[in-house]
Amino acid sequence: MVLDGLRQRLATLADRLTLAQQIALAMGVLFAVSLAAVAFLAAAITRDVAIARIEGEMRETARSYAGRLEQEMRERLSDLTLLAASEQMKDVWGGDPARLRAVLDQLAASMDRRAWIGFVRADGTVASATRGALENQSVASEGWFREALAGPTYRDIAGGGATPAAATARGERAPPAALLALPVAPSRGEIAGALVAQLSLDYADALRRDLLGGTLVAPAQIWLLSRDGRMLLGPKPESRPYDAAQIARFLAAKSGAMLEGAGEGSTLTGFAVADGDAHAPFIDWIIIARQPAQVAFSAAWRLAGSILAVGFAVLLLTLAIAAFLARRIAWPLVSLAGRADAIGRTAHSEMLPRQHGSREIVRLSGALRALLRRVGAAEERVSLQSAQHAKDLGDLRRMAETDALTGLLNRHAFQSEAALALAGTRASDTVGLLMVDIDHFKRVNDTFGHKAGDLVLAGVSAAIAEVVRGADRAARIGGEEFVVLTRDVDAGGLVALAERLRAAIGQREIDVGAARIRVTASIGATLAGPEDRDIGDVMERADQALYAAKRSGRDRVALRHPPGRLRA
Ligand code: GH3
Ligand code: MG
Ligand code: MG
Repeated sequence: MVLDGLRQRLATLADRLTLAQQIALAMGVLFAVSLAAVAFLAAAITRDVAIARIEGEMRETARSYAGRLEQEMRERLSDLTLLAASEQMKDVWGGDPARLRAVLDQLAASMDRRAWIGFVRADGTVASATRGALENQSVASEGWFREALAGPTYRDIAGGGATPAAATARGERAPPAALLALPVAPSRGEIAGALVAQLSLDYADALRRDLLGGTLVAPAQIWLLSRDGRMLLGPKPESRPYDAAQIARFLAAKSGAMLEGAGEGSTLTGFAVADGDAHAPFIDWIIIARQPAQVAFSAAWRLAGSILAVGFAVLLLTLAIAAFLARRIAWPLVSLAGRADAIGRTAHSEMLPRQHGSREIVRLSGALRALLRRVGAAEERVSLQSAQHAKDLGDLRRMAETDALTGLLNRHAFQSEAALALAGTRASDTVGLLMVDIDHFKRVNDTFGHKAGDLVLAGVSAAIAEVVRGADRAARIGGEEFVVLTRDVDAGGLVALAERLRAAIGQREIDVGAARIRVTASIGATLAGPEDRDIGDVMERADQALYAAKRSGRDRVALRHPPGRLRA
């Protein structure tokens, strides 16, 4: 339904446009569609490439960040391991707490401003610690302490909690930290206690900020998550941005990249797991680097925009060239149409010239020329035939209307003409009718034969025809009866015409072979009256007048007035 309407409208439009315009339009539409397709495809490819590039960038950022954090942790662990295994420290562990504190202070200072290092005796009391913090307090209930006596252990401290850091923070929210602990065994097999270091993650945060200020720019983000998914460093510390299943996938994959979310609001995320190495197998950090996918999309849109802009300029050029070419292609058709249109209208154009331009045009002009030749021949035949037909038709009509013997109108033709004349008259017009009958015609036949009678009929007709001229009509309506219709007469004029007829008939000598004879005729005259219904009524009255003329002696004229009319 809708499609039909559209097709109808297209057809109407096509009829209004020239062939050249249609070709140019078609080329323009074709180009515009290709242009849009190319722009769209280029944008899609650009977007995919940008997504892949940014994903790679995010993955590499996460990886390099993880590597540097591992390196840092490894160094700290090796410092602590060296100290725990040092021969010179053998007696210090169980000796003067002040001396041990001096060593620990020195080591802590080499690590970072907020580092805290303590030695916890096997019973869980802090023997000696950086700045004296927590000394003589028990950490026996801390889970990491039990593990530390067995081997190196590690904890993420995301602020708060009963940790050495919490104690030093004096009620402030503690910054995230890393806790490293390992056993101290000066004599073989005998564990003296554990060496514990709480290291702030300031360096990790500084490194993070360096990366964000350097290769990555806002709104990119780098997060540091603990192995159980808590955010250590990032916009929302302590939050859990991913569910357990996703964290498990991160840990399994070690590093990678992905597109989070869909459409314009999606994010390109790279991740890497910092899981230490053989020396520090206990560390498990997840590093997340994120960039809004919008960056990739906007690059794609920018490219599509520039392709469309350049394409539009090319489109205008294409349209101009298309219009020019289309005119050239259509020109032979236009020329042919013009010549064809002129045929039969202007002088000397009965034939088309041979037209060139394309195979179709050559064929069309050839076909049209052949058609014109056939049409010309057919036209000639038709014009000859139609002339013959017109003549035949005229002859037939004349034969149908004419009395063969006398050449006058026959009864039928007279009646229709008289009916027409009567119908066309106005009240002021007058129509007169004369009924003529040859006197004693039977005697002519009887005396001279039927042939002579025919000659007499022809002679009388000739006499009538000579008198009756112009608009008046004469007819033979019976054996030897004639009728004359005349217009614009009064009773006097009508009687005068009748007398002239009677005289002309009576004076005519007719050669009938054996003799030259004369005949007389009686004439009944009347005028058409307002009460006459048709020509029949008028003829009837003329007949009565004729009868009166016969009765009163023949060879005379009798007039009968129509009813309802004053006698003149
Ligand atoms: P009236 O004076 O009363 O008219 O007498 P009439 O003899 O003329 O009248 P009637 O009607 O008695 O005779 C008419 C004759 O005309 C009769 C017929 O044989 C003859 N007639 C009719 N048609 C033709 C024709 O075509 N040719 C010839 N030769 N005779 C005809
Ligand atoms: Mg008669
Ligand atoms: Mg007669």
